[in-house]
Amino acid sequence: MNHLASLTIVIPCFNEEDMLPISIPKFIIILENLIEQKLVTDDSKILFVDDGSKDQTWKIIQKYNEENHKIKGLKLSRNFGHQNALLSGLMNIDTEISISIDADLQDDPKVIQKMIEAYYKGAEIVFGVRNDRSADSFFKRFFAQNYYKIMNTMGVDLIQDHADFRLMSKKVLNVLGGFKEVNLFLRGIVPVIGFKTQKIFYARLEREAGETKYNIKKMLALAINGITSFSVMPLILIIWIGVLISILSGLMGIWALFVKFFIGGTVEGWTSIVVPLYFLGGIQLLTLGIIGIYIAKVYMEVKARPRFIIEDEIK
Ligand code: UDP
Ligand code: MG
Repeated sequence: MNHLASLTIVIPCFNEEDMLPISIPKFIIILENLIEQKLVTDDSKILFVDDGSKDQTWKIIQKYNEENHKIKGLKLSRNFGHQNALLSGLMNIDTEISISIDADLQDDPKVIQKMIEAYYKGAEIVFGVRNDRSADSFFKRFFAQNYYKIMNTMGVDLIQDHADFRLMSKKVLNVLGGFKEVNLFLRGIVPVIGFKTQKIFYARLEREAGETKYNIKKMLALAINGITSFSVMPLILIIWIGVLISILSGLMGIWALFVKFFIGGTVEGWTSIVVPLYFLGGIQLLTLGIIGIYIAKVYMEVKARPRFIIEDEIK
């Protein structure tokens, strides 16, 4: 090991008054252990981001800061959601490495040490990956498993069972700052950044106190945001449905004309209603799909993501 890195542990908190008195002391012990073992410098810290909590969360963070200056806080003006809270923390880091983790100790904090060791071995991003979801509810497990599948078929490169427990170096954070998208889905962006990465596996634990802050509404919003921030597949799908319906309507039209002229017995006016009905439906979807493709292009441009990322430089 050539030098010692400084670390910030970033923890987004939303209404975590039940959890923080349990988790803060544990996080402090973990950080002090790392410092003692000479894995990180002793100006390393823990940054709590209060994501517009309505309870005592901010007061608790302030109280712990008075006792221990390694505890830092960042308070957002309102609830921006987990992803944005996390980003605000990450964009305010002045140490060499950052590790993001939830406040509820569901992601095994012992993994932090392994992440730092991986960093010293050259990884710029270290993903914490759950290899055991038995602590999650049936619904959450079912939802999560299918979600990763759907995302992968849509062409989004997600790391299965990796949430937002990860180490990122300052270098990676600087690049992340260049992704200006408003609809933020970190899990999708980080794999796009590249660099040398590593995965570390751990078992997902139960939440020790308080309730999940991800209600179904927030979970669905995150899922839909994830798809629509990374994939234009839903827009492209419209054009294929349009093509399909156009073909079907063509066949329907031929059939309706066939019935009218060769079989007979059709109600007066039936053919002239049925033929344009299907035909127009098909054409509408087709044109909508074409417009969709242009919107998809505009959308990709508007995001103005960096088109290349430089990993290293020799000067
Ligand atoms: N969180 C947040 N803002 C929100 C929702 C959640 O900062 O709007 C935080 C929350 O305090 C926790 C982390 O994000 O530290 C993950 O939330 P939670 O544990 O409730 O999600 P779950 O583990 O159930 O998916
Ligand atoms: Mg949790």
